[in-house]
Amino acid sequence: MTTRMFEKFTTLTLISVLVVSVFAGCSSSTESGAEAAKEKKQQPIIVQGPMPIEAEEFAGKLDDVKEEKSGSFVFYKGTLDGYPVIVTKTGKGMENTAAATAVAIEKYDPIAIINQGTSGGHDPELHVFDIVLGERTVNLGSLKTPNKEKGEGIHPTEWIPMDLMASEGSAGEDPDAENIRYFEGDKDLLAAAHAVKDTYTKGKIVNGTIGSADVWNNEVDRINWFHKNFGSSVEEMEGAAGAQIAKAYDVPFLGIRVLSNNKVNDGEYNPDTAEANQEYVYEVVKQYISMTTEK
Ligand code: SAH
Repeated sequence: MTTRMFEKFTTLTLISVLVVSVFAGCSSSTESGAEAAKEKKQQPIIVQGPMPIEAEEFAGKLDDVKEEKSGSFVFYKGTLDGYPVIVTKTGKGMENTAAATAVAIEKYDPIAIINQGTSGGHDPELHVFDIVLGERTVNLGSLKTPNKEKGEGIHPTEWIPMDLMASEGSAGEDPDAENIRYFEGDKDLLAAAHAVKDTYTKGKIVNGTIGSADVWNNEVDRINWFHKNFGSSVEEMEGAAGAQIAKAYDVPFLGIRVLSNNKVNDGEYNPDTAEANQEYVYEVVKQYISMTTEK
């Protein structure tokens, strides 16, 4: 081989090696890109409901439902418009909801979580069958009492909001913890909820603040105190617990609550609201799926 021929040969070899590796690179990156997209597409949407009447109606609307249990939490795994949706019957209250949310995230890697169900009104403008979209969710049980000595009594209206996430130090001692912690509702979920607002005809739908605690407040003065000081539109027993855990894992979250009762304007408890809310949330989930799969 002459030097020239050798040079030509080496150049050709180099070019073909380059070409082959570029192609190999390309095909493997498109392949993994497509796989990643497919996996992302298949991350389920979780819809949580505390009581049977707040979950089973929705679960019945899914296709190919398989039931799974973890502890006392029931997961109805199915599809809606061919997209995976898991309805969870969490049970009532903050602890059940927090645990059911963590289990769901660890087990199913959801793309988003909607916590929905009934609630009691704090806002006199809202009536039974109206729906609140949780632009914010807040724990109404995170409170610190002022210092009072023996015999000085109990003063609930002086209780101070306490932010358990302000620091890793003592919430009792830390003045920075004396704030209300709001969890923001996810913007895309809110957009989906607004897009299908007109499908709901049983009441109005508003953005608002969902307050949660393992407490059922029937004292109108206390309800008004929360409404004024925390800006709560409604109260229930789950939303803030789900929101806090979803935030810990960075999973988009939205609370959607229908008023089943409103003590401040004599709105009597009506359990049929639970079904009406699920019908609306079904439309929200459909809309969110179409927005997600379009992306
Ligand atoms: N009255 C109902 C009991 C509901 S128990 C019955 O007899 O079946 C509490 C559940 O209702 C919780 O999941 C909570 O989220 C919701 N809820 C509805 N209205 C509420 C209110 N005014 N205060 C607190 N929780 C309320």
